[in-house]
Order: sequence, then structure tokens, then C-alpha cells
Amino acid sequence: MSEAVQIKKSHRLFERAKQVIPGGVNSPVRSCLAVGITPVFIKSADGAYLYDVDGESYIDYVGSWGPMILGHKHPYVMEALEHAIAHGTSFGAPCPAEVEMAELICKTIESIEMVRMVNSGTEATMSAIRLARAYTNKSIVIKFDGCYHGHGDSFLINAGSGLATLGIASSLGVPEAIAKLTISLPYNNLEAVKTAFKEHKNIAAIILEPIVGNAGLILPKAKFLEGLRDLCTENGALLIFDEVMTGFRVSKGGAQELYKIKPDLTCLGKIIGGGLPVGAYGGKKEIMEMIAPIGKVYQAGTLSGNPLAMAAGLAQLKLLQSPLTYKMLESNTNRLTEGLKAIKSKKVPLQIAHTNGMITVFFTKEPVTDFESAKSSDTEMFAKVWRHLIKEGIYWPPSQFEAAFISTVHSKHDIDKTIQAFETAVANLS
Ligand SMILES: *Cc1c(COP(=O)(O)O)cnc(C)c1O
Repeated sequence: MSEAVQIKKSHRLFERAKQVIPGGVNSPVRSCLAVGITPVFIKSADGAYLYDVDGESYIDYVGSWGPMILGHKHPYVMEALEHAIAHGTSFGAPCPAEVEMAELICKTIESIEMVRMVNSGTEATMSAIRLARAYTNKSIVIKFDGCYHGHGDSFLINAGSGLATLGIASSLGVPEAIAKLTISLPYNNLEAVKTAFKEHKNIAAIILEPIVGNAGLILPKAKFLEGLRDLCTENGALLIFDEVMTGFRVSKGGAQELYKIKPDLTCLGKIIGGGLPVGAYGGKKEIMEMIAPIGKVYQAGTLSGNPLAMAAGLAQLKLLQSPLTYKMLESNTNRLTEGLKAIKSKKVPLQIAHTNGMITVFFTKEPVTDFESAKSSDTEMFAKVWRHLIKEGIYWPPSQFEAAFISTVHSKHDIDKTIQAFETAVANLS
């Protein structure tokens, strides 16, 4: 199909969309504003591939922003969904799959003794801080610059993801009275957290991405997480790990298993829904039992524990119980990382961060350890490389401040093609 025709259908859809949807999209980063193109509209997906409305195919490194760890349309997940759908789409009453889901999460993640299902990561984090405030009877929440915890009011202060991409790290519309209850500190800076605890007696919780994915990928320094754990325990605050992105990805038990730190509460989402809208928050029984109907912290959801979402999520989580899956993910991640690290360029500075199933290529000279250093990246350079990649049929996250997601079904061929395309794109820059 010719390029002119290819642009047309997505173009036409985007023009229509912009009339009736703000910015033409239902989630900001999808607009591809930061890379300066019209977004491609996707018709279908299969395995490691996306297919757009104009018949072009792409090797997908967005994976629906995390959920598709086993690739799109995994036969086992599809079969579970088809089976569930035959029984109805929503009951508004308890269903067996919810129990199975909760049991599986509690069995897999050691720090979770009880869990409540919700419909998105945003709901999980909003509910978790409400619970932490109730449990501690305190109100201030510490978060870190560049971390994204969904779009709850309390989290839209120096936030990552789409806010970083658009350069509006703190959203309008958050009342001052709420904003002043959030303290945002530099990631990986334990001293700043110590100082905050000295200055404020009213800290209910620290919430963080134990591995940051939403400012691009940033790993915690040695002892950072351990230091936060100690500070929370000493000061009677709760430690909340937002593992919406890292849960069941960086390892079966999430970042907390990898770094051997036990948070008080954990937020989950993305992978646990197998591509359907899901979130969850869980932790110590003593804390979780404060939630209604047995406790006085109110939280509810018309579609929470939805039978279709539970079926898809459970199928995916069952497949992830096999250590082989994580070996495959690790081997795919390493192949891509090593290939990208081997790209040599005198003029284009590259910092490559990776963990199991996630990678970011930062266009900066500085090692990236926090939001400040991530922001030193040359976003113009990134955009140029991105536009080359999409032409080569590679769908990389359209922002410097997002991690790319690797799945178990990316083939060696897919990965090598990606490395090759990066190499050409970087060579074109210098
Ligand atoms: C995606 C994400 C969220 C928000 O989840 P939604 O389902 O988009 O509301 C929260 N926290 C982290 C770490 C995320 O990556």
C-alpha cells in the first residue's frame, strides 16, 4: 500500500476524533504529540504485532503500556475470555473468579495477605492512600518526582508519564488544599526523605514506583528502598509500592521480590487484567480489614471484580506461574539491551536502562538516576529516532519519558530488526 494512502485512513480518523474527543485521544500519550506525527489507528493485534487501519504492521514495544507481557491475543487468554463471556458480562454480585484471583495474588506476592479488586491503577493508588490515611490517622503523602500513580488529585504534582511528556508535570484543577498534602521529592534521595520526616509529623505514607517506569526507566539505588522501609517503620508511616507496572513483570513477585523489601500496601494493575480494565490494592490483613463493608474506609465499584476481566487476568497470571516465562522475558530483554548498547556514536549520547521486560533509551550524556537527569535528555533527538522507527515498522513508546515493554513473544528476528533500525536512526542523526 502506498504511503499516501496509508496516512489517509489514520488521518481521517484523527480528524474526526479531534472534533469529539479532547485532543482526539482517550489518554494523552497516544496522541503522539511529542514525536510530531498523527497517531496510527490500530485495527487489531496479534502476538508481538500491531496492525493499523491502513494495513501496516508494527513490532509492538508498548504492549498496551504493560499488560500484554505474553503478547496480544494469547490463545489461552482468549479461550478463557470466550468461556467467560458465554456466561454473561457482569453480575454485580460475587463470582468465583474473584476468589481465585485474590488467592492467586496473595499466594504470589508475599506482602499481600488480602486484596481488593478495582478497575484501574488510578483507583488502586487513590484507594491505597485513603486507606493509609485512615490507618495512620495522618494526612501527608510523600511521592517522588517523575513517578506516575495515575490521575488522582494527590499524585499530579511533579508527575511522570503523560504529564512529563507534555511538560505540564503538575496539573491544573488540583485544589491548593489537596496539593499541599503531597510532598514530592527527588527519587533515589534518601536524605530528602529524612529531612521531610524531621519537618513533618503528619506523614501517612510514602508511595513510589519501586522501579520507575513513568519517567523512562530509572532503577532504585542500592539501599534506597531499604532506607524508605526503615524510615516508614520508624515514623509510623505506611510504605506503598505502586507496582501497577512492575507487578508480575520484573519478576513474578514484582519489584518487592527482586529487591526483597516488604511494603505495607501494594498497588497492582496492567498485567493482572490480561488487557482488560483492572487494578488492585492489597497488603497486611490488619490494614485491609479497615475497608468497607467490615471497616469504615469506603471504596466500591460497579464493575470491580468483573468476570471477564478476572478470566483474562487469571489466565495470564496462571501462565506467568511458570519460571520459563520469565526466563524467556529475560532473554529477550537481554538480547535487545545488548544490541542497543553496542550502538556506537560519537555525536549521539545514549544511556540505556533496563530491567526484566522493560527498557529505556535516554538521549543524554548523564547517567539517569532521577527525574532531573531524565529531563536532561534531548527530546528532539528522541523524536527523530522515533519517526525513523515507526517508518521501519517499530512501534516504540512515543515519549522519552516512558519505558518500552518487551514481551515473551518478541522473536529474535523482531529484536534484531529493532536494533538495526535504531542503529540506522542514530547514524542518520550524526
Ligand atoms: C499505569 C500506571 C498507573 C495508572 O494505571 P491506570 O490503569 O492507567 O489508571 C499507576 N501507577 C503506575 C506505576 C502505572 O504505571
